[in-house]
Amino acid sequence: MPELPEVETVKNVLNNIAKGKTISYVEVFRPQTVRSDLKQFQDVLKGATILDFTRYGKYIIYHLDRDYVLVSHLRMEGKYYHRDEKIKPNHNDLVLFHFTDGSYLAFNDTRRFGTMELVLKDGYLEREPLNEIGPDPFMMKDSSRLYEAFKNKGVAIKPCLLDQSVMSGLGNIYVDEVLFACKIHPETPAKLLSKKQYDEIWKWSKDIMGRAIQKGGTTVISYHPTEGIDGEFVTELKVYGQNGGKCVNCGTPLVKKFVGGRGTTFCPHCQRNIARPFVLGLTGPIGSGKSEVGKYLESKGFVYLSSDAIVHHLYELKSVQEGLRRFVPHLKVKDGKVDRVSLRDEIIANPRVKRYIERYIHELVIEELERQIKKCTKDQHVVAEVPLLFQSGYDLYCDKTLMLEVNEKSQLAHLENRKEDIEKALRLNARFADLNNKKATYTIFNNGSVADLHQKLDTIFCKMYQ
Ligand SMILES: [Zn+2]
Repeated sequence: MPELPEVETVKNVLNNIAKGKTISYVEVFRPQTVRSDLKQFQDVLKGATILDFTRYGKYIIYHLDRDYVLVSHLRMEGKYYHRDEKIKPNHNDLVLFHFTDGSYLAFNDTRRFGTMELVLKDGYLEREPLNEIGPDPFMMKDSSRLYEAFKNKGVAIKPCLLDQSVMSGLGNIYVDEVLFACKIHPETPAKLLSKKQYDEIWKWSKDIMGRAIQKGGTTVISYHPTEGIDGEFVTELKVYGQNGGKCVNCGTPLVKKFVGGRGTTFCPHCQRNIARPFVLGLTGPIGSGKSEVGKYLESKGFVYLSSDAIVHHLYELKSVQEGLRRFVPHLKVKDGKVDRVSLRDEIIANPRVKRYIERYIHELVIEELERQIKKCTKDQHVVAEVPLLFQSGYDLYCDKTLMLEVNEKSQLAHLENRKEDIEKALRLNARFADLNNKKATYTIFNNGSVADLHQKLDTIFCKMYQ
């Protein structure tokens, strides 16, 4: 769908090719395209001279030497073609403006959503349909209109910015680009943004769309302002359509999700959701003291979420047991719970099964972690213990990450307190360090006493203690 910069380009091209021309007659092949009275439409335009084309929001306005203006919207696929009378129109041409100079302008629309209507010239901005359209960023003096409209809204900022009645011009592409430039998460409740952030949104909207207008718009694949003109701005898009690509600022893979029903791409690292509590991702091999860290931070006011506890709970669910049977048909269930020891033996015996099960369980764990984090307030701090933090990709959801490292002696000492089969537990974790070679924000070598560990944690996190 053409966005503001494309419509601006079309308007400029129309001024180049049709401004000053006189319409000898109009042919309408699809009457529904004309929203106002059809006979009046043809009568008024017959003999009219086009004085100028302007743009309001994503509407194009034909100014005429008549008491009316013609208001037109391209919608999904509307285009214009300027041709010599000798060239026949094609079946997607819906309206033809024949000029006295022997050429004609065709309004062409394969999707047939485009519209045209005559509106009385006197006060046309206060009449339908333009009265429902807010000013675009270039017409606004400052951001106060945005701030006043959204400061009490609990809904996500993205759908707010798509509401054309407050500020017009930002469509799906440019909202994503603007929010990325402002480092604002698209799901941030609008009321949590400051006046300064609305200022940034307004300024970046002007900057990004201004550059796009210079380049002639964005939607290259399905859209041509007129024959021979292509948008080039697509090469400058930083997030839109780049799902899975890397953030140009920090290298984090960009994420796509649906916000307010629209596909939305953003950097989970640069565009932090401020409605979310601070989340510390905690990882480390077996016997490295993760639960000790979790319990200690919990005593200092953190909310401690343990994926181990979540997995225990998941193993009690019938649906999860069914899910696991897809990979381990003879899954053992004891007292209504997956028998972890036999499952571990299966996993050790079969690396492929291990991979499948890890992926399956990780997704469920992350879903549950996110469900619990959503229940926290933005002022709380969360420590989320996730043994395969980086492999599961959950580090991208965390504000900071903490990795525990241990030497073999300390690891064995930590494990001795547990009733586990130490040798098997270690085999399961043998490649841990290799797989977690991505850098954590903090690394603690936990080879000393519990008091040492607490002291190290205090040094890093004491400012967050309550
Ligand atoms: Zn980033």
